[in-house]
Amino acid sequence: MLLKNDLNSIKTFVKKGNVLTKEEELYCYAQDSMNTNEKSVLPDVVVFVETIEEVQNILKYANEHKIPVISRGAGTNMVGACTCPHGGIVLNFSKMNKILDFSPENMTMRVQPGVVLNDIKELAERENLFYPPDPSNFKVSTIGGSIAQSSGGAMSFKYGTTKDYVLSLTVVLADGSLLKLGAGTVKDAVGYHLNQLIIGSEGTLAIVVEAELKLIPKPEACRTIVGYFDSFEDAVNGVNGIIKERVFPATIDFMDNNSIRTVEEFYPCGLKTEKEALLIVDIDGFENSLDIQQKYVESALAHANAAYIGVSANDIWTARRASFAATARLAPDVVSDDIIVPRSELAKMVRGCKNICDRYGLQVCIVGHVGDGNIHPQIALNLENDSEFKNYVAAKSEIYELALSLGGTISSEHGVGEAKLSYIENIIDNEVLNCMKQLKKLFDPNNILNPGKIFKI
Ligand SMILES: Cc1cc2nc3c(=O)[nH]c(=O)nc-3n(C[C@H](O)[C@H](O)[C@H](O)COP(=O)(O)OP(=O)(O)OC[C@H]3O[C@@H](n4cnc5c(N)ncnc54)[C@H](O)[C@@H]3O)c2cc1C
Repeated sequence: MLLKNDLNSIKTFVKKGNVLTKEEELYCYAQDSMNTNEKSVLPDVVVFVETIEEVQNILKYANEHKIPVISRGAGTNMVGACTCPHGGIVLNFSKMNKILDFSPENMTMRVQPGVVLNDIKELAERENLFYPPDPSNFKVSTIGGSIAQSSGGAMSFKYGTTKDYVLSLTVVLADGSLLKLGAGTVKDAVGYHLNQLIIGSEGTLAIVVEAELKLIPKPEACRTIVGYFDSFEDAVNGVNGIIKERVFPATIDFMDNNSIRTVEEFYPCGLKTEKEALLIVDIDGFENSLDIQQKYVESALAHANAAYIGVSANDIWTARRASFAATARLAPDVVSDDIIVPRSELAKMVRGCKNICDRYGLQVCIVGHVGDGNIHPQIALNLENDSEFKNYVAAKSEIYELALSLGGTISSEHGVGEAKLSYIENIIDNEVLNCMKQLKKLFDPNNILNPGKIFKI
């Protein structure tokens, strides 16, 4: 709980009108897109920051007075990465949303943390350039949140994740000091890559106030091929077959039968609701290369017993990206998980996950970026129903155990936040975990940056 003095001091650091303190204003900052049946704690204050200096002053004060500071972009992460279990100050970056510099010649863009990913993509595309990371909600999520989660998306298969597109970061440390990490050049072999340490650290090590991003040439053309299958196993064989043909698609995404049916009901677009699995394969490159790529992809899918193969209009992606919203119509709550296994174990993972949910009477719609071995089981339930909640917790543990036993892990792109904190000690070696904790201590000795996330201290 902040003292009145603290509030008065914080108000002096920012413009008038940029501070929220009323309970009804704080309420929505107690949550993000993680669904939980636990009572959320309100932050003490929300501050809309507009300059780097404001962020520095707030952190300096918070560090001296040991007040938690939680950074917030669009609040869309799914793991409770920007909730406030210990109250504190929420820094809202929505007013630091400017693109500061765009150099088509160097293929770079310098941005503030509150810029929405779609704005970066659209500006780059005007110059035939491309910023590939594409979490399904890229039309609303911010680059600050994306860097802090190292967001991926469907394009990760060919183009990698956020970590592959950050050239430098300007960050404010817990004590308010300002550092630029990385030279901003495409290659940089001078010392440790500290910017890569910040990426994916969920706002627990430093606060990002500027980022220099790498862009790449935009492929001239893209074509979407769909393949429907009567079994997951055939669909996974289809994925492997494509790769054996030496085609490198931009995406290989997946929807299971429950997702296909749920989405078709929500957003009718002619999905084949009787099929067990759908693969969505984007091929890209020069226009005149697409026919040959398509021939190889179709032959691989046919070889894997695809029941239907076709070229699709773009609304297949609208359908795929609507899967979370569509699943949310099945029950009062939906919890989206994030599992990754080696691609060779994918069919066992999908089948196992479905069996576990069936056994516990839970509705699950599975989608995923299967080129990477990454699936998102989306479980629809009523979290306030005690027995459903217990079943969900038990099923989740079994799903995680299965992922680990298959050589995978329990988060590939959504992060840890609060949601997976209690599992991390069983997953990471003690020595590695200690190393992480020492790093946290070095960066943030008073544990003010997003406390209660990633691991217990
Ligand atoms: C429908 C839906 C679909 C999604 N699909 C995908 C997907 O396909 N792939 C994928 O990877 N993810 C996906 N996500 C999750 C996605 O990673 C996050 O939504 C997004 O990256 C978070 O951006 P945000 O602006 O909402 O950040 P927030 O949720 O506000 O914050 C996320 C984390 O970043 C920290 N943070 C925010 N700003 C800063 C800053 N300036 N400095 C330091 N830390 C900061 C926060 O403290 C928090 O830890 C999806 C989410 C939804 C709701």
